[in-house]
Amino acid sequence: MNSRNVFRALTVAFRFSGTKLNRPQWNSSRNCHSIGKNPSGQTSGQQLSYVQRMKMLQNLREKTGMTEEVIKNGKCLVYYKGDPLLTEDFNIAWMDFTDLGVDPKLFLEHALLLGMTDAGQFQFAVQIVGFGKELKHAVLKKSQGNFTDFRLGLMMMPTPESALASKAKAIFNWHRRNTHCAKCGGPSARNSTASCRTCSKCEEVWYPSLSPVGIVLVADSLKTKLLLVRQGRHPKGMYSCIAGYVDSGETLEEGIRREVAEEVGLTVLSVDYKASQHWSFPTSNLMIGCHAIVSGNEPLDVDTSELEDARWFSVDEVRRSLISIKANPLETMTSAQEGTNNFFVPPRGTLAHSLIDSWLSS
Ligand SMILES: [Zn+2]
Repeated sequence: MNSRNVFRALTVAFRFSGTKLNRPQWNSSRNCHSIGKNPSGQTSGQQLSYVQRMKMLQNLREKTGMTEEVIKNGKCLVYYKGDPLLTEDFNIAWMDFTDLGVDPKLFLEHALLLGMTDAGQFQFAVQIVGFGKELKHAVLKKSQGNFTDFRLGLMMMPTPESALASKAKAIFNWHRRNTHCAKCGGPSARNSTASCRTCSKCEEVWYPSLSPVGIVLVADSLKTKLLLVRQGRHPKGMYSCIAGYVDSGETLEEGIRREVAEEVGLTVLSVDYKASQHWSFPTSNLMIGCHAIVSGNEPLDVDTSELEDARWFSVDEVRRSLISIKANPLETMTSAQEGTNNFFVPPRGTLAHSLIDSWLSS
């Protein structure tokens, strides 16, 4: 089955809604990036350091705002009704702004500043649904990409690209849901880079929110088995790590101990931080990944209001599944949809995949 058909086959398992943005503020100044051959002021072919890129992005967000010059030299991650434009192997199908053929001011009403490449090119995300189906068809014709179900894309993309796609989705959603000031109720407007909103009445400035979520791979103290769980919204056959929001007043370790106790009735003996990842489901979350040890002798007491299933898997079972999802992710997921495979671990774009991989490699 080719990947386009797999997109269709798996779409049932991954549902989401599109977004629509408000009008931005517009800064027509051309003074901030006027040296060199591109908006970053560097000569073509040079590489910018991380610090240089961060300073330039900060300057755009906090001082100069967007300029036509910056936009016209930018590259875009294009969304249509929330679906990102991806290549068949789940990389971002970047498009030059000039290939979109839209007015820069109109573009800014539907776009946000994502980042900057090492070569000094600014990266944008843009929702094109407001431009009509003609632009969608033109994009598909020029790009060689497909508008791919967002959740599927996020799970399948390489980590650096999934981080950009997740960031864009979260910020688009935050603007859509926060059109008015939480302090006085007045209407708010986004700045030109979409990094914040300012209330038109009390001038309070609001920034996109981020919630901490602990996600943990639980192993027994003898390291013979791993605990994986299913939520009802998971793709059929997928078992993942326990995850839950860290409550106000809790440390990460306390949140993880509580979640494991609540969801599967086990006592956590130790917690080790491993890695983190932004994840934009169901809202904007910072996933904080850990390994945890439990005794392995306690009976499971599964909270069925939260989980569809929770099971101990042998290390060999998990290792085989990891090898399969790494080698043939689409085929592995599709075979579960078709009922010929009742267990797979999350694919490469997820922090759960990294946690399982690092545990098996340690
Ligand atoms: Zn206000």
